[in-house]
Amino acid sequence: MEKTDYLIIGNSAAGINAAEAIREQDGRGKVIILTEESYLNYSKPLITYYLAGKIPIEQTGWQQGDFYSRLDIDIRLNTKIVHLDVEQKKAISASGDKFGFQKALIATGGSPIIPAIEVDGGKKLDKKLINRAENIFTLTTLEDARKLKAYIEKNGVEKATILGGGLIGLKAAEAFLELGLRIELIELSDRILSATFDKQASSIVEERIRDLNSNIFTQNTIEKIYMEGNRITKAQLTDGSNIDCQVLVVAVGVAPEVPFVDSGALDTDRGIKVNQFMETSAPEIFAAGDVVQARDILAGEDRNIAIWPLAVMQGKTAGLNMAGSHYAYGGGFFMNSVEILGVSSISMGLTSLEPDDSRKVEVLSQFKPESNYYKKIIIRENKVVGAILVGAIERAGIYAGLIKNGIDVSNIRDNIISENFGLIQLPADYQKHLVVGEGIEV
Ligand SMILES: Cc1cc2nc3c(=O)[nH]c(=O)nc-3n(C[C@H](O)[C@H](O)[C@H](O)COP(=O)(O)OP(=O)(O)OC[C@H]3O[C@@H](n4cnc5c(N)ncnc54)[C@H](O)[C@@H]3O)c2cc1C
Repeated sequence: MEKTDYLIIGNSAAGINAAEAIREQDGRGKVIILTEESYLNYSKPLITYYLAGKIPIEQTGWQQGDFYSRLDIDIRLNTKIVHLDVEQKKAISASGDKFGFQKALIATGGSPIIPAIEVDGGKKLDKKLINRAENIFTLTTLEDARKLKAYIEKNGVEKATILGGGLIGLKAAEAFLELGLRIELIELSDRILSATFDKQASSIVEERIRDLNSNIFTQNTIEKIYMEGNRITKAQLTDGSNIDCQVLVVAVGVAPEVPFVDSGALDTDRGIKVNQFMETSAPEIFAAGDVVQARDILAGEDRNIAIWPLAVMQGKTAGLNMAGSHYAYGGGFFMNSVEILGVSSISMGLTSLEPDDSRKVEVLSQFKPESNYYKKIIIRENKVVGAILVGAIERAGIYAGLIKNGIDVSNIRDNIISENFGLIQLPADYQKHLVVGEGIEV
């Protein structure tokens, strides 16, 4: 059995940042990073840019090829862990390789959720069926994007069907529309991006999609799929309508999953539970990124918030603590950004709060659908706790800074919603804070 000081399972935002942080503290300990994938590394948020043809596949990488050798990190591609024994401190790969370790980090992200849709002929949709099918895809890895792009190009696809109008569904929509394809988007709730957008914000993006000869089916889902051999040909929706499918992307969400740990070996809830040092319930086993539930500074509880910047921060925290520091993760909040053909949007924090005098919640908004503009700021107890910006996202960093730093905005309340709200209107004390460089990061 091979032995290492630090074993990192996962070679993405959380895993790579953890390795870098370990090296800051410990220049000598042996570090191995394992990934089940065959790419050296890539940025997940960029895979739909590659799909859209905006960047070549090489530009999806975010660490140079010499990153691993420079930091003396042993990277093993195509190494899928199938069992992690947290007591014996060893991990076993699909090909039978064994890795003993002093400390391990689980940074394995999440896996796409596959709804068990009925398939004509009696089967149910699952991962195996998707792998076998020629024209049904998930879209969470670079390999997914590569296969999907190759299929579209080879078969002259003109229309794409997307199941799910959340972040990944919309990123897929953005890419398809850029490629000149029509889309049919099927979403269970009454609007797209429903987890973070309200009706007004969604309506601007929905209009843009419909303008492009594309369709959105809300309060609907796929009830049954029809296949010819390994190809989907038709989908039947809950409202009874049938749509022809040239290609189907299943994008109903991603869930943290640790199938390689014995049941009960780690405390889990909606993700692996960690403390502020990213330690799991098992000694010397850490976890970070999309696979954990960690502190949400606005919700006041631990939640699974699957976004890149938080995976980076959690990975760094885990790495520092694995190497002996005592560094606490400060928590984070949700944020996402989508651009549909020129209309950019960002939502952050608690966007679904309604005005409520007893909880001191105020909601300020400006809606100008004719110019694809919407701004909504949610204030609770004089602090900004959420924002939706559509059509003008330049000030997103300022709002994110106000949320993150819990700034009292009672004196700038009247300006905060104005179109030209900027640094100049911020409280003087906070401006100083920004000038010395401790404030905004987005
Ligand atoms: C299409 C798409 C667009 C996105 N856009 C944005 C965006 O615009 N902004 C944003 O903030 N976030 C975005 N996200 C989310 C963001 O990519 C994730 O939050 C981030 O990648 C999480 O990083 P991670 O390191 O926790 O996990 P991941 O990036 O999921 O990486 C997991 C790693 O673990 C490895 N792994 C998994 N299981 C095993 C195993 N059993 N054995 C060995 N290795 C394993 C994988 O190969 C991979 O290296 C997007 C995600 C997707 C899919």
